Amino acid sequence: NRQLVLAERPKGAPTKDTLRLIEGQVPSAGAGLMLLRTEFLSLDPYMRGRMSDAPSYAAPVEINGVMPGGTVAQVVISQVKGFAPGDHVLSFNGWQDYALSDGAGVTNLGQSPAHPSWALGIMGMPGFTAWAGLTQIGAPKPGETIVVAAATGPVGATVGQIGKILGCRVVGIAGGPDKCAYAVSELGFDACIDHKADDFAEQLAVASPDGVDVYFENVGGKVLDGVIPLLNPNARVPVCGLISQYNATSLPDGPDRMNWLMGQILRKKIKLQGFIIFDDFGHLYQEFAKEMSAWIESGKIQYREEVIDGLENAPEAFIGLLNGENFGKRVIRVGRN
Ligand code: NDP
Repeated sequence: NRQLVLAERPKGAPTKDTLRLIEGQVPSAGAGLMLLRTEFLSLDPYMRGRMSDAPSYAAPVEINGVMPGGTVAQVVISQVKGFAPGDHVLSFNGWQDYALSDGAGVTNLGQSPAHPSWALGIMGMPGFTAWAGLTQIGAPKPGETIVVAAATGPVGATVGQIGKILGCRVVGIAGGPDKCAYAVSELGFDACIDHKADDFAEQLAVASPDGVDVYFENVGGKVLDGVIPLLNPNARVPVCGLISQYNATSLPDGPDRMNWLMGQILRKKIKLQGFIIFDDFGHLYQEFAKEMSAWIESGKIQYREEVIDGLENAPEAFIGLLNGENFGKRVIRVGRN
């Protein structure tokens, strides 16, 4: 049983020394337990937070602890009612080949799901995050303008496509011309701006001639700076993620603009609301799943996945995810087990 454990807490960006691959025995499933073999491991930005012991909404991973993570696995041996060998399940095995489970929090996907790994993306946590954050906090009305960054990732791409279904103008922000071209031609965004461009803020203003009604916040930093002046009165800002800050070791240099920001929020009556998907909206998951399945079936939602082979390649793939190297939802096909 190969496991990736936290070797040291990263200072700034994780490095090749952050995680260590160890090998041990495959655990045996006693009474009331099942043995799960990991097929796909989801790589998600929140995992950077788990590597840190700074205060957060979830406990940090212990040093030498197995990195947590959402997985699709196959049942090998089962003494749990409702789960049979060969069933594919959505589970939380973490970064390892095998895990034991008593079935709590595990969803049975059946013997032959059409796209098992999608349970980690469009049909799972990221897709649900996009749907809930946009519909419950963003609450866009037809004709309004939505801006979303990390526009080709699983959250951003879904936010934008739902925005189009709801009749909005959608402006994406992504890193580089290939991602921007994809957001417009394949995902149907009205425009997509490269945040690496020198005149990014000017381009964003031109692409949002009627201002911005919903800013779905995924990244923070320079992108947030560019969007705030464009927000319309009564704009809504679902605060989903701040990936540009996850590797930061200190606050940016001044001047301190906190009071300027609060002034904008006050004068424009902006609603800014953070959320943690399952804490806040878990009760809506079935509603999401029904609506999203129908959209996928009718071709209204596209989904791009980037599958990387080998558990041993997960650390490098994760470092790349934080740098924007991924193009679509990144999953590891765990292999060799
Ligand atoms: P992505 O697959 O989109 O990966 C992250 C992307 O962020 C990168 O590909 C890159 O895209 C972009 N990025 C990285 N650094 C920067 C930067 N400095 N400036 C601008 N963009 C940057 O991730 P997800 O779709 O899985 O997640 C998107 C966001 O949603 C994250 O912030 C995540 O933490 C958050 N999230 C929050 C949840 C919640 O419950 N609140 C649940 C799930 C996700 P590009 O190359 O286009 O810049």
